[in-house]
Amino acid sequence: MPQLPYLAGYPPQIIDRVRDLLASGRLSAYLLGRYPSGHDIRTDRALYDYVLGLKSQYLRSSSPLSKVAYDGRIGLVHQALGLHTFVSRVQGGRLKAKNEIRIAALFREAPLPLLRMIVVHELAHLKEREHGKAFYRLCEHMEPAYHQLELDARLFLLQLERHGPLYAGDLFGRSDLKKKGAEI
Ligand SMILES: [Zn+2]
Repeated sequence: MPQLPYLAGYPPQIIDRVRDLLASGRLSAYLLGRYPSGHDIRTDRALYDYVLGLKSQYLRSSSPLSKVAYDGRIGLVHQALGLHTFVSRVQGGRLKAKNEIRIAALFREAPLPLLRMIVVHELAHLKEREHGKAFYRLCEHMEPAYHQLELDARLFLLQLERHGPLYAGDLFGRSDLKKKGAEI
């Protein structure tokens, strides 16, 4: 049985369904059925505006963001989808924490709902550092389908690893493969 590292911690029935999708070669069709197209948030500037829009909607009072960027150094190996960093700098004699959000560059080629999921995840870290109950409550407040989207983001990583880009050669992902896949 091949290991499915992105799905560690999920219940066996979900892992079995994912194995079925892989074994029958329907993973791409499943993802394209749910997410027929990519998004056009291509630049760091566009990403910054998108993140700021969500932040001002849900987390207006939390500390400001100094930087938002796609980061090609965040890879699949570490299973680090995003990376929220606190950069501490001494300014005028007092320590000032700066918030940066870096999003793995592979989300540039992802469906918008999956980009939204990872942005919501990283924004939630502005208030909650640990992945505890309060953290996931905050994620669900910003995105009610958070848990389904997180699972689908893991399937998207599997897709990249096993089959390559979901929207290869087609910026907006129109595809003949578009059809409804199995519900996970
Ligand atoms: Zn996290």
